[in-house]
Amino acid sequence: MKSANCGCGCGVAVSPGREYRQGHDAKHKSALLNAAVGPDRAAAARARKAIASRGWDGHLAIREAMIAKAAAKKAGRRAAGGGAKAAGARPAAPAAPKPPARKRDTRTAGGGTLPDLRLASERTPDPAV
Ligand SMILES: [Zn+2]
Repeated sequence: MKSANCGCGCGVAVSPGREYRQGHDAKHKSALLNAAVGPDRAAAARARKAIASRGWDGHLAIREAMIAKAAAKKAGRRAAGGGAKAAGARPAAPAAPKPPARKRDTRTAGGGTLPDLRLASERTPDPAV
């Protein structure tokens, strides 16, 4: 049987039935995500197709949400008068007051609100879990 080359494009042969060399799927995914949100539209379209065909749409959605969040933050800072001083005074967005801390419920966490994109290290430690 003819062996194929690794799907990430590194040119290494992989065993039949396998798409990637071990660990290269993550490398490829990261590269595709970067290309999908990159400035090259043709490359982005190709990357998005590849992402969809591998079922990685969720990863792309998260990446896009993070970029949108960062862009909104940037735009808000600019609208606030262009001064980094004004934005630096308030690290957290005061617009949406957090509900009082209560037992985490995954049903309410996913219902209608934006997904929590913070890193685990940035979250308030939950000793109950
Ligand atoms: Zn590879």
